[in-house]
Amino acid sequence: MISTNTRELLDTPISDFIISSEKVAHVQIGNSAEHALLVLTKTGYSSVPVLDIKYRLQGLLSMKMITESILGLERIEYEKLTNIKVDDVMDNNVTFLKITDTFQKALDLVINHAFLCVVDEEGTFAGILTRRVILKQLKKYIYQVD
Ligand code: AMP
Repeated sequence: MISTNTRELLDTPISDFIISSEKVAHVQIGNSAEHALLVLTKTGYSSVPVLDIKYRLQGLLSMKMITESILGLERIEYEKLTNIKVDDVMDNNVTFLKITDTFQKALDLVINHAFLCVVDEEGTFAGILTRRVILKQLKKYIYQVD
């Protein structure tokens, strides 16, 4: 049986916890794989959102996706980086959250994702919710209850 306090946490809107879009490193459709590699290397993030010109979420791009795209039979073909576009290699089947979703939904999804993209009512990218933030909130809650 779920206590009133736990229910309150589970029903909290995720908008309270997201890292807003202006603070999120991203790449754009049409960017080269070389540019994306620079962004990923400089930020140190394992993957970043891919947005279109209207700031709508189009996919996710990771270092692994880029490396695989330039992997030759005997060597890494770095010279291909400028010709490959982000859209050629990104994952466009992305699990995402809506800004109106609750902590409970986020909790279910972060089990399998280090972070989730969040979109607003118009489908515009609003930011991300990370597993780290969810775990911090859970820890805070557990210590409060004890
Ligand atoms: P963290 O919880 O900070 O370890 O972040 C987990 C993952 O979320 C990172 O590896 C990135 O893929 C993504 N991430 C976190 N913060 C940002 C950010 N400000 N911009 C872009 N991606 C981020």
